[in-house]
Amino acid sequence: MFGLIGHLTSLEHAQKVARDLGYPEYADQDLDFWCSAPPQIVDTIKVTSITGQQIEGKYIESCFLPEMLANRRIKAAIRKILNSMALAQKHDIQITALGGFSSIIFEEFNLHESKQVRNIELEFDRFTTGNTHTAYIICRQVEQVSAQLGMDLDKATVAVCGATGDIGSAVCRWLNEKTNVAEILLIARNQERLHNLQAELGRGKIMELTEALPQADIIVWVASMPKGVEIFPEQLKQPCLLIDGGYPKNLGTKLQYPGIHVVNGGIVEHSLDIEWKIMEIVNMDVPSRQLFACFAEGMLLEFENLHTNFSWGRNQITVPKMEQIGEISLKHGFRPLLTPQHS
Ligand code: NDP
Repeated sequence: MFGLIGHLTSLEHAQKVARDLGYPEYADQDLDFWCSAPPQIVDTIKVTSITGQQIEGKYIESCFLPEMLANRRIKAAIRKILNSMALAQKHDIQITALGGFSSIIFEEFNLHESKQVRNIELEFDRFTTGNTHTAYIICRQVEQVSAQLGMDLDKATVAVCGATGDIGSAVCRWLNEKTNVAEILLIARNQERLHNLQAELGRGKIMELTEALPQADIIVWVASMPKGVEIFPEQLKQPCLLIDGGYPKNLGTKLQYPGIHVVNGGIVEHSLDIEWKIMEIVNMDVPSRQLFACFAEGMLLEFENLHTNFSWGRNQITVPKMEQIGEISLKHGFRPLLTPQHS
């Protein structure tokens, strides 16, 4: 049995989902209500691999909302993640993926020091961040969509926004080792971490976002922003490929502009329908087949009986591990989403 811990993208989103699911009394509630709501198992999932193998899983809604971070409701955010993990373990789930902000909160607030949740001692090897698969999928999207658009990676400048993060640093490692990209622009706020990454890669230009965007042929957004940023498409190169891997999305508005191609980053498509309801709620175009790559990592580890925290800690993702999860991904019928939202 695998588990997925997820959350909605905003208070407004949570209110809409409550209304759509027939809970009008929740639909008018404010952030305080969501801060006190306990995590719940809201879906049972069946996945069939193209090998014929079948697995079952549970979806845990943590009731965390990104506004909790923006409004300093840190204790509530921490409680949501620890309680969701304890719930997964109580249901004897062997491997659970920490989706969206769950793993970011886990790392940011040192939750490895909080093993005891009431009567449950958390066993961290039952959890994975799913970030190795996410990083692999984003890299394949860079390679494959740029080729579809006729871009030459050898001549391309790639800006990675969130470069020092767990996913961002893995993307930089892959671009450096597996491709011939002409230039990598490194964007984040903490300068020390940026310089450490630059030293590790032996290349890369550290830049402010506003300086980097007009120079980039490809922009990979993997920053942990509770709210998306507004960008002005007329300041971007044409053509420009934007891979938005953030959850919530890093781009504040949908961009519709000639020559700007936006792809939902870190999303995979399965070759067969998945039996579940939850992906409709997070607005996937094809809810029966499309999902976050981090969730798919939980499924892949279950298919392979790899009941271990395959992705864990920060900035430890290596290219060989990305290749390993990539092979397993293909074997079971997952592939990166390659269709731009607007062309
Ligand atoms: P991390 O916390 O490890 O890294 C976040 C990065 O973003 C850091 O480099 C951070 O550096 C940078 N950052 C944060 N805020 C800003 C800002 N305002 N401007 C510029 N840089 C910023 O996160 P992860 O790598 O784990 O996750 C990245 C994103 O991917 C998140 O949005 C997450 O929800 C999403 N995600 C998507 C998945 C999928 O399946 N599609 C799976 C898992 C995660 P600094 O703080 O120095 O600025």
